[in-house]
This record gives sequence, structure tokens and C-alpha cells, in this order.
Amino acid sequence: MAREVRGPVRVRVPAKINLHLAVGARQPNGYHDLVTVFHAVDVYDELVISRAQRLSVRTSGPHDVPTGTKNLAGAAARALALRLGMKASVAIEIAKQIPVAGGMAGGSADAAAALVGCAALWGADLPRDALGEIAAALGSDVPFALSGGTAVGTGRGERLSPVLSRTPLHWVLALSDGQLSTPAVYAELDRLRQIGSPPRTGAVQAMLTALATGDPAMVAAEMSNDLQPAAFSLLPELRRTVRAGLDAGALGGIVSGSGPTVALLAADPASAAGIAAELAGSGTCRSVRIATGPVPGARVVGTG
Ligand code: ATP
Repeated sequence: MAREVRGPVRVRVPAKINLHLAVGARQPNGYHDLVTVFHAVDVYDELVISRAQRLSVRTSGPHDVPTGTKNLAGAAARALALRLGMKASVAIEIAKQIPVAGGMAGGSADAAAALVGCAALWGADLPRDALGEIAAALGSDVPFALSGGTAVGTGRGERLSPVLSRTPLHWVLALSDGQLSTPAVYAELDRLRQIGSPPRTGAVQAMLTALATGDPAMVAAEMSNDLQPAAFSLLPELRRTVRAGLDAGALGGIVSGSGPTVALLAADPASAAGIAAELAGSGTCRSVRIATGPVPGARVVGTG
């Protein structure tokens, strides 16, 4: 066993965007097979995990986030405790910066952070693989939130292989007033595919080649997301957000995952600052944030 710590344990975990998201046919189990390129950016939730009489989860910030084991961080603490044959007696406080239901996998990020934080608090000497298995059972995006960086995800997105990505990428994130439920976006994609043929994302290799060059213009040219037509269909104003970002000088723009956050790729930090300022005044989004990726996944940043 690794050494337990008295606590509290502080964990930081990044949001993700999808640089490439190819959605296959709906499987009999209701899931769609995916090929995606995840990319972790420096928008962080921070969790403080302390010993307590019983499991509790509190969130500061948005109020439409569930508490207890309905919160993915609480579910993660319970799943790890079950694996270790102990009780999940922890109080988890989440300071949320990742937009809720924004297509940036905030709930999954908090689950990954809870796994890493509880493992540290309890001195659980589990191999990273074992945490990965628990993570995959909690949700498709949770394993990536453990690893971070840039990675190809297959299956439901839970099978990962790291990607060589040479240089930092500079992003402007346009946060939306609305929220999009991931199942609703997939259902809309199924509907659009039944009545027509929305454009499909090409092979992932082109994005991997672009990332290997480190040229943001090449990366921008290869960004694609099969869920984007469905997100546009449910929230048509997102088209204007992407357009405004491109008009402001972004090299490319894409809905992040199931949306509604829009990720705009800039040539460099100065260009990102200019795009952010122009977009903030465009009236096409609630707020903007500058972000950089890739960054590592869930990490303990303080104990005791
Ligand atoms: P994804 O991109 O992984 O599909 P998302 O980023 O669009 O998801 P989340 O922020 O993960 O969306 O939230 C989806 C739903 O999950 C929320 O509406 C909320 O009810 C629930 N949820 C459970 N735990 C959390 C959490 N810790 N933080 C945010 N939402 C959570």
C-alpha cells in the first residue's frame, strides 16, 4: 500500500475538446462507435477531498450540478471504495470552471479527479490500469480525463492511444448561454441521418499528421465533428458563433463534442487575444476564454 495522507487532497483536472469526432452507426446497446481525438486544455475544475463521516459532494459555482452519488465525482469515490473494500467516507468540494453540459466533459473530469484524489487520500496502491478500468466503467470520457494530453479514443471513446503533438495550440473558447444534453445531440444526429446525409468526418489519420507537423493552420484544416450538424440543428445560433470567430481571424472553428461550447483555433497567443476581444463584443456567445493545450490529466496539486 502507498502511504495514506491525512488530507485534504487537492486535485486539478482539465476540460477536453475533440479535434476530430467521427460517429459510427448506433449500436444495439444504444452507444455509437467513435473515433475521436481528445485534447486537454487548461480550463480546470479543482476538487478538495477530505475525510468525513459519510460521502458528500458540494459544488461551488453553477447550481444545476447534482450532489451525492448522482454527481459523477461521488459515483467515482464510491466505485473506488467498492474496489478497495472500504466505505467512501469523504467530503468532496468542487470548484467548477469547466462549463456544465458544455461538451467539455466536466462531469467526467470531476470523476477522474475524484478517483485520483481518493486513491491518494486512502493510499491505494492501484496500478494506473486499474484506475483506468474503473474510469471506463464510470463513463466514456473519464479515462481521457485521467491521462490528458492529446489522444485518439476508440470504442465509446474509452480506449486510448496517446498522440504525438509537437507544439502548444492556442484556443479561444466561446461559451454559450444554452446547454445541450449529450443524449439529445446523438438522438438528433440519428434523426438527421435518417432523413438525409449530413456531412461525415473523414479519416483520423489526416488530423494525426497535422498534429505531428505542429502547424496550427494544418490542424485547423482537419478539425471536424460529426455531432456539429446536430448541435447546429438544436441551437442554430451556434453557426453565428463559429462564423464570428472565423471573421475575427480564427484559423478554424468547431463545436466541442456535443456542444454548445465552440472551440476556435488561433495562430498564436497574440492572435487568440485579438479573436477573444472581438468575439466578446460580437454578441454571439455568453463569454469567451482563452485556453492552451495539451495539458496533463487529473493531478494531485496539494495534500494536508
Ligand atoms: P460530455 O461532453 O462528457 O458529454 P458535457 O461536458 O456536455 O458532457 P457535463 O458538464 O459533463 O456535460 O454534464 C452533463 C450532466 O452531468 C450535467 O447536466 C449534470 O446533470 C451531470 N453531472 C454529474 N456530475 C457532474 C459534475 N461533477 N459536474 C457537472 N455535471 C455533472
